[in-house]
Amino acid sequence: MTETGGRAAAGTSIRPLDVIIEKRSGGEHARDTLAALIDGFTAGEVPDYQMAAWLMAVCWRGMTSRETADLTSAMARSGDMLDLGTLEHTVDKHSTGGVGDKTTLVLAPLLAALGGTVAKMSGRGLGHTGGTVDKLESIPGFRSDLSEAAFLRQAREVGVVVTGQSKDLAPADGLIYALRDVTGTVESLPLIASSIMSKKLAGGAKNIVLDVKVGSGAFMRTLPEARELALAMTGIGIHAGLNVTAILSNMSEPLGFAVGNAIEVREAVACLGGGGPSDLRELCVVLASQVLLAAGLAGEEARVRAALDDGSAYQRFERWIAAQGGDVTRLADLPLAPDQEQVRATTSGVVAGVEARAVGRAAGLLGGGRSRKGEHLDFGVGVLLHAKVGDGVAAGDALATIYHRGGRGLEPATAAVAGAFEVAESATPQPLIIETGLR
Ligand code: URA
Repeated sequence: MTETGGRAAAGTSIRPLDVIIEKRSGGEHARDTLAALIDGFTAGEVPDYQMAAWLMAVCWRGMTSRETADLTSAMARSGDMLDLGTLEHTVDKHSTGGVGDKTTLVLAPLLAALGGTVAKMSGRGLGHTGGTVDKLESIPGFRSDLSEAAFLRQAREVGVVVTGQSKDLAPADGLIYALRDVTGTVESLPLIASSIMSKKLAGGAKNIVLDVKVGSGAFMRTLPEARELALAMTGIGIHAGLNVTAILSNMSEPLGFAVGNAIEVREAVACLGGGGPSDLRELCVVLASQVLLAAGLAGEEARVRAALDDGSAYQRFERWIAAQGGDVTRLADLPLAPDQEQVRATTSGVVAGVEARAVGRAAGLLGGGRSRKGEHLDFGVGVLLHAKVGDGVAAGDALATIYHRGGRGLEPATAAVAGAFEVAESATPQPLIIETGLR
């Protein structure tokens, strides 16, 4: 057999082969076994092929909730654990991802305005549009590479700071995710739950709300799957001593009207000023309320709405962006790509569906998303919807405007947006918030 196949990996007390066989046979791993496997893999002592075989065994055999919690804890401890212990009322949220999801941009200053402290590391996008950090970097001057000392100082002084994810935070997750991506082992509930929650545990916030998306534009397509994931993640958090609560929200059409980078920041700015799309506002209000209440703060929805309407959330947003070097004079009219193309309705009726994935794909094709790590993004391109599910349209009405640069990706993007719209005789709009208070 191979170097580590028949003996313990150097520095660990387990033989990876035994661990693979135990899981393949449907066994339950002890806490120490999982810790040794993760430590050994992170140290490069357990080779990729054995880790891949074990991941596949987990896909088939699953894990108990105790095993999933222990796996998560081992992954969280594989690198630095942020110590936010000197900060009051640390709050965070995680979304399982969706098209047009700019909630962090609204929620972070909103929570800070209501007494929470948001000290968050956020990802860059690999996919249709950028991640939160990419969207923030579409603001001229915004810096996301703060030192740990500057990160903590800003959290204390401004109540909100968001930087790029440090490579030193839960490094086991990055290594395992790269392997899952190429071995068909992404779709496993305990692996998804432990991946997401390991980063949350290492991120240090004590109060967390999880926004688990359901629908065609989401990772979880059905309600039972989404509920199971939500409960698995809250279970992990509670096991680790955190206040974690989850909601399920609809992601069968994009959130809000804007999909892209700068165009999403513009929409978030409108929401922070008391306006913006009603679905974005509602989701932010519910998420804020849930996590503030979990943190023991006054988080009644009326109070949260007032913070959007009275300017306090927007003022906190400006302080935050300015603290990270962003030019706040440009917020409301961040430059968009200069060329526009309209997608028009070919029949009259009611919009019965706006396929979120297709709209996201269009934004990516225009240059707003990455297909490879490190790829440069065009912050100005994107899609602005003019109609959503339930809206009546007449033939010839504009359904969406595509912002493009010199025609790059325009043809397939236009086809994707046109194909995303279903216009029918009637529509049954789905509720945005499906369930709250899951734990
Ligand atoms: N997001 C993550 O961070 N990890 C997963 O496994 C899936 C989604």
